[in-house]
Amino acid sequence: MSLIVLGSVAFDAIETPFGKTDKIVGGAAPYASLSASYIYPHVKIVGVVGNDFGEDNLKILSDHSIDIEGIQVKKDEKTFFWSGKYHNDMNSRDSLITDLNVLADFDPIIPSSYQDCEYILLGNLAPQVQLTALQRLEKRPKLIAMDTMNFWIESAMDDLKETLQHIDVLIINDEEARQLSGEYALVTAAETIMAMGPRYLIIKKGEHGALLFGDKQVFSAPALPLATVFDPTGAGDTFAGGFVGYLAQYGQVNFQTMKTAVIYGSAMASFCVEQFGTERLQGLTKKEIGDRLRQFSQLSSFVL
Ligand code: AMP
Repeated sequence: MSLIVLGSVAFDAIETPFGKTDKIVGGAAPYASLSASYIYPHVKIVGVVGNDFGEDNLKILSDHSIDIEGIQVKKDEKTFFWSGKYHNDMNSRDSLITDLNVLADFDPIIPSSYQDCEYILLGNLAPQVQLTALQRLEKRPKLIAMDTMNFWIESAMDDLKETLQHIDVLIINDEEARQLSGEYALVTAAETIMAMGPRYLIIKKGEHGALLFGDKQVFSAPALPLATVFDPTGAGDTFAGGFVGYLAQYGQVNFQTMKTAVIYGSAMASFCVEQFGTERLQGLTKKEIGDRLRQFSQLSSFVL
């Protein structure tokens, strides 16, 4: 049994009010798989890099026992590159550069050793690629979760609508939910989006937490109030990795287990933003994660 994480593997250049980085490891798959690896031990990536990515960067993943057999290394080609700049409030950012490079014609090959997968996270990538990966699985996983972003809503809406029909949970932010549904109120947006396919929907609201919709219920999870948000890049992918990692570890998928999974995702995301890139996710301890989960539990518990 395992959890497949499909997604971009990238070099990112990030600018926040706290500083600037040049080409550090990023992408949906590293953030999500590092996050999941702290909760569930059998995480396997499907992705692609150029030979500029380098062994050292792949080792960051394999050092966390993440299976990297499914990362194709394309000789003489360049790794996907993304550059973004955050506004002062850190809730919004501008994508400055999106160089697809190896992602432009990415064909997601699923190694045969990955066919035991019961959980899959279709991380941020072209929806057509997400669907192809799904179609290459010999048996339907117990849970198919998916992320997407404004880039694909704007450029590949038809493919996105098709892929949405095959998944169980969609994980997007509030801006993307409004853009995808054409509705401003999030409750109405959720109804419209779930009518497109997914039984469950998670809407992330940055520092305001996340909403889980499904089974005619709503669950609201807080975000941890943090004094310093250093770099929000990858927080969404880290959330998604923590969410599916918990469900894979627990082994049961229903609204109740998803509520706890949302808290795991939120806790992992709260670490991600404390340092630049994947730095904070590289050296977490079980105790730090346990302490943070307890903080979350205290944050919104009250007596009626
Ligand atoms: P997040 O902050 O969770 O939205 O994710 C940020 C990550 O998404 C960065 O590490 C980027 O490398 C990656 N990314 C940005 N644009 C794209 C895209 N169009 N396709 C796939 N990954 C992307």
